[in-house]
Amino acid sequence: MGQPAILTVDDDPSVSRAIARDLRRRYADRYRVIRAGSAAEALDVLKELKLRGGRVAVMLADYRMPQMNGIEFLEQAMDLFPRARRALLTAYADTDAAIQAINLVDVDHYLLKPWDPPEEKLYPVLDELIDAWQAAGDQELPDVRVVGHRWSEPSFQIRDFLARNLVPYKYFGADEPEGRRLMEAADAGPESIPLVVTADGRALPRPSVQEVAAAAGLSTSPGRDFYDLIIVGGGPAGLGAAVYGGSEGLKTLLIERQAVGGQAGQSSRIENYLGFPDGISGAQLTDRARRQADKFAAETLNTREVVGIRTDGSARTLTFADGGEVSAHAVLLATGVSYRPLVAEGVAGMTGSGVFYGSASTEGPACAGSEVYIVGGANSAGQAALFFAKYARRVTLLVRGDSLESSMSYYLIQQLAQVANIEVRTRCQVVGAHGEGHLQAITICDDKQGTRATVECGYLFVFIGAEPRTDWLGDVVLRDEKGFVRTGPDLLVNGVRPRGWDRERDPFYLESSVPGIFAAGDVRANSIKRVASAVGEGAMAVALVHRYLEAQ
Ligand SMILES: Cc1cc2nc3c(=O)[nH]c(=O)nc-3n(C[C@H](O)[C@H](O)[C@H](O)COP(=O)(O)OP(=O)(O)OC[C@H]3O[C@@H](n4cnc5c(N)ncnc54)[C@H](O)[C@@H]3O)c2cc1C
Repeated sequence: MGQPAILTVDDDPSVSRAIARDLRRRYADRYRVIRAGSAAEALDVLKELKLRGGRVAVMLADYRMPQMNGIEFLEQAMDLFPRARRALLTAYADTDAAIQAINLVDVDHYLLKPWDPPEEKLYPVLDELIDAWQAAGDQELPDVRVVGHRWSEPSFQIRDFLARNLVPYKYFGADEPEGRRLMEAADAGPESIPLVVTADGRALPRPSVQEVAAAAGLSTSPGRDFYDLIIVGGGPAGLGAAVYGGSEGLKTLLIERQAVGGQAGQSSRIENYLGFPDGISGAQLTDRARRQADKFAAETLNTREVVGIRTDGSARTLTFADGGEVSAHAVLLATGVSYRPLVAEGVAGMTGSGVFYGSASTEGPACAGSEVYIVGGANSAGQAALFFAKYARRVTLLVRGDSLESSMSYYLIQQLAQVANIEVRTRCQVVGAHGEGHLQAITICDDKQGTRATVECGYLFVFIGAEPRTDWLGDVVLRDEKGFVRTGPDLLVNGVRPRGWDRERDPFYLESSVPGIFAAGDVRANSIKRVASAVGEGAMAVALVHRYLEAQ
């Protein structure tokens, strides 16, 4: 395989020559610097590289070009080389337009012209992009392939896991020709479904998500026995803490049982997170945060669930569901919340076969032409309705309350009202789910009309109430009646510190009833359930961990 490429495209020949010269000066020994004079020429070059099995590390495009601008070019180029890192070159006057466009297409950086001296303005950015490309696997590997059954829960679990962890994969039904070919090649019978074929050609019959994670190169075991800070939960709070912990020199471990990104990772578009005026998808935000945490050497453990916590003198020790322990000076609980199960006849048996908790974005295309129902009245349900309305024949939002106003943001209510195939029904509840092998109908009780009717339904997405699922903490830290972890001022009753508290000071703002165990984000009692506040608390927790460590 030849050297990977750095591609630059600019319609101004003198700029094009200058940037290629500067790039060659630093990278020519390791990378082939290719320059194109127009977006169309650059796309031709990329197509040829693709056919020849070439690799592209970085694509650097001028913003203002005739026929096709840099953003439009990068959008098309991403289809050919999705792992290549992307940067936009702009003149100062175009910065605003470029920033807005950057939020629509996932561009990693924008660079201002002129870039002199390159040692300060060009090379640091390029070095970072190249590092990110190498860290993600320095080649365009063939995708992981999954052979499964349309309505099988284990098949869904594997697809959902890969999608939420941003591992590219291709799915084939076991009855499709390519699915049959893969099964035959792996000597696999029906008992092996779902069958996962890794990028390097290994066949994994009915694998656990841990096996799939390991095969996809996601780390599943800690690199050391003892850390400064262990974070349990990889949602926005945990990722925020990992970035700050790592960047401030703490030996930091982040443990995630399912997929980093947490609830935010499931959001089709987060519109109110600072710095993204056109919104950002949960997957993009997660990808950026994960890379940022990696950059600062915070370790991430995937598919490991923490089920126990104890204090061993000054150490805080965590136990994993599948055995093993790991300890640290300080622990941050950032385990967020999970959806409450929908209790109605027939629903439990259909989970993964038409009934889904949260926004299973993998199901979007499969919903084409179907009747989709969404249960819930909060922002998460509203976002899901907008997402599935792009595919489904009709989306019906079933809300238990009298209106959406008390539970959903104004901007989302407005957006829902503008989509023709979305219907909102208030004072409605699902009381039954029916189908042979997969969901085909649901029974809805409509309190407003006083009716009960069974309607056709292929997909039911549930977004009701969120529970902290902190039972595993037992009596170690104080929790409120719903299971949320109490911290800081919430622990003081008439100024009295919690029982067993052995310090001369009050608990820090995000500290639990055990010194050195902190909580941030949705899992914390009385927290604000938002992405920005979770990220902020994650950052703040790290500052408090420093204070705690200084006093040790
Ligand atoms: C679909 C959807 C859309 C949303 N849209 C918006 C929005 O537009 N704007 C906004 O501000 N907020 C939005 N929210 C809310 C926002 O996502 C949450 O407030 C935020 O994600 C909370 O972050 P967190 O890190 O505290 O918890 P979470 O995001 O819940 O993450 C917790 C993580 O901990 C992991 N975990 C739990 N227990 C364990 C364990 N024992 N061991 C290991 N790992 C564990 C979980 O798997 C999870 O990944 C949305 C939520 C949803 C579901």
